[in-house]
Amino acid sequence: MIAPHGGKLIDKILKGSDKKKILRNIKKYKAVELDEEQIKEVKNIARGVYSPISGFLKKEDFESVVRNMRLASGTVWPIPVVLDINGKEYKEIKGQKDILLIDEQKKPISLLKDIEVYKNDRGFFAENVFGTKDKAHPGVDAVYKMGKYLIGGEINLLDNSKYPFPELNFTPAETRKKFTNKGWKKIVAFQTRNVPHRGHEYLQKQALKEVDGAFIQPVIGEKKLADFKDEYTLSSYRVLIDNFYPRNKVILGILPLKMKYAGPREAVLHALVRKNFGATHFIVGRDHAGVGDYYSPFAAQEIFDQFKSDEIGVEILKYGEVIYCEGCGEHRFRKDCDHKDESKISFSGTKLRDNLINKEQPPFYIIRPEVYNLLSNSYNSLVDPMYKKPATNNQKGFVLWFTGLSQAGKTTLADRVYKVIKKKGLKIERLDGDVVREHLSKDLGFSKKDRDENIKRIGFVSGLLSRNGVGVIASFISPYRNQRQGVRKQTENFIEIFCNCPVGVCEKRDKKGLYKKARAGEIKNFTGISDPYEPPKNPEVEVLTGEETEKESAEKIVNYLVNKKFI
Ligand SMILES: [Zn+2]
Repeated sequence: MIAPHGGKLIDKILKGSDKKKILRNIKKYKAVELDEEQIKEVKNIARGVYSPISGFLKKEDFESVVRNMRLASGTVWPIPVVLDINGKEYKEIKGQKDILLIDEQKKPISLLKDIEVYKNDRGFFAENVFGTKDKAHPGVDAVYKMGKYLIGGEINLLDNSKYPFPELNFTPAETRKKFTNKGWKKIVAFQTRNVPHRGHEYLQKQALKEVDGAFIQPVIGEKKLADFKDEYTLSSYRVLIDNFYPRNKVILGILPLKMKYAGPREAVLHALVRKNFGATHFIVGRDHAGVGDYYSPFAAQEIFDQFKSDEIGVEILKYGEVIYCEGCGEHRFRKDCDHKDESKISFSGTKLRDNLINKEQPPFYIIRPEVYNLLSNSYNSLVDPMYKKPATNNQKGFVLWFTGLSQAGKTTLADRVYKVIKKKGLKIERLDGDVVREHLSKDLGFSKKDRDENIKRIGFVSGLLSRNGVGVIASFISPYRNQRQGVRKQTENFIEIFCNCPVGVCEKRDKKGLYKKARAGEIKNFTGISDPYEPPKNPEVEVLTGEETEKESAEKIVNYLVNKKFI
């Protein structure tokens, strides 16, 4: 079995008493909240995906990686693994030795030990890693959107839950075991982020001739506009592996990792990561991890020439362009046959994607009909609306009004949708109970009259904002139809989101014990118990927050906004 990068597989997953001890004292730590992508990075570090890296990089390593593609120790590493924080967070954690990393629901994810905070030199970062400061490059844009500071430190993972696709979410230790069990000595890994066309299949089958087995590992996570949704990439590969690949020669797994589109440097990262998973060979084709024309088509292959082969450790299979040759009647590498260029048909990911979305079946030599049928029969949209660019620069105002019982999930769902829209760079305001009660309705109590007045005031503010092209996201129980009707009349493009969740489920979720108090009569006029909730008759969107995942509900809402061209 090939040695992990740097010699040792990192394992920073806390277990048993070590974990219990930290969880017992959890309140003493200051915390920084992470988004889903950052949590993936934390777990990757802890599971050894980035071995020998065992934490977010400190300043010396960060500068060395950005400048020289090496850690301070000299080990090759092409892209910094860093955690950014903003000025406010910086002030909160100043002077701390260890801090807690938590998710959006405040759940502890990891301890970050012996921290070091330093300035995030975004220009230096972008220009060296991506070779450009152009913000039209999605990786550069992401760097410029990072916080002003970076925070380094050792990871000590507290939450090792596997999400998404737990059945395919293997750790490097697990894949190494799988390969050994199969008796494979030489393993080729294949990086992808899209549904497979026949060109990919050809590459993989060529590689299989040189090795014992293949590990196909699509990256799962935030990608660029209109890349295929992860589930379609995976189900397409399942069709290929079950029907068209040699038996017992292919393992499918996922790599939860955000694409950075750093072209050549990212190819090095992908190769080293696959070495940690146990691969001995790695395929680098044309324009690996590139975007637009920032990198020459074979830059991702040439970059490996800068290193000694034992510094990389994994053998890079540098493949040329695959075409379908009408003269030969089969797939070939372009350089391998002497037919005229006119008879050579090349692959275009963009064209294939357009074909699939418009349900125009491409020829058999572009995509397997079985894969095409799977994709074209899908009811859901194939590309992820969450990551699409805003449809228009002339933003229309709207009001997303989340209504439903207490604990129906309005606030967390509204927060999630807010983040999606905010990321697209649109003008959006978030109104929720605490903010409104603090700044708009401090004088009001909780009588029916005061609650009506509260909603009226929120309606007034939402009206002002929506009339001026701003999106508003408001989440209030707002139990009465005529209340909500009143807001609808006051605002532009009122979109009622009914968070439909049975009262029994809400009660179970209720950590504050409000329902219990209401049932005991300690709280009067409690919606759903001692006061009615009038469900919307024709809400624009209904989400079943008792059964759907938060992500599914959020997608419904974002889909609605995309279809109606609000975002
Ligand atoms: Zn030919």
